[in-house]
Amino acid sequence: MIIAIDGPAGSGKSTTARAVARRLGFHHLESGAFYRALTYAALRAGLPVERWPELEASALDALNVHARPADGAFRLFIGEEDVTEFLRSPEVTAHVSQMARVPAVREWLLSQLREAGRTTDLVCDGRDMGTVVFPEAELKIFLTASPETRARRRLAEQGVTDPDPAELAAEVERLLTRDRLDTEREVAPLRRAADAVLLDTTALDFEAQVEAVVRLAESRRR
Ligand code: C5P
Repeated sequence: MIIAIDGPAGSGKSTTARAVARRLGFHHLESGAFYRALTYAALRAGLPVERWPELEASALDALNVHARPADGAFRLFIGEEDVTEFLRSPEVTAHVSQMARVPAVREWLLSQLREAGRTTDLVCDGRDMGTVVFPEAELKIFLTASPETRARRRLAEQGVTDPDPAELAAEVERLLTRDRLDTEREVAPLRRAADAVLLDTTALDFEAQVEAVVRLAESRRR
């Protein structure tokens, strides 16, 4: 069974997907980490951002990014180096949508992402899991929340629990900029699949959010 969770930045997709996967005994595939790993590798290799649109499969192969399953999820590697812990840095976050809009990049990752789901039950999350990567998923969820709620959650993850208004506004702006790039790109833009269940988590606590997805999954499985 494949459960596909898509939605805008900071909507809680990854944490929800991880918890749902644990509850159901499925694997968790966080597709954003693959885009982040390519971004990290390109930045580290000194490839100028303005040249990224010209990247072709051979150049992507040369970055040597790959994933390995581990403990019910996937770790990202550059060669033999596990780089999973470096992928959520502000620098990677600020550039990842520029990488993700390059058609050759999406093409390159498509087979890797599909391969990951070939042999196991999966909860995957991202922007185009239900629309492009796994259109046959048995359950699709589109997770959303108000921009302010998303910004507060993102800041809390970074240890900022009581942001001042300027901090909050800056985080909202960062999220909305990324959403704009992800929604307006030509290839595999962020959008809700016609058959996705819309889950607005603005007023839901985390446990309720996870419970809602688990219940939907159990009803689809029967
Ligand atoms: O989910 P996360 O915030 O880690 O994703 C980082 C970025 O990767 C997104 O802003 C988007 O540009 C890109 N992405 C994508 N398609 C996916 C997953 C992530 O374009 N399925």
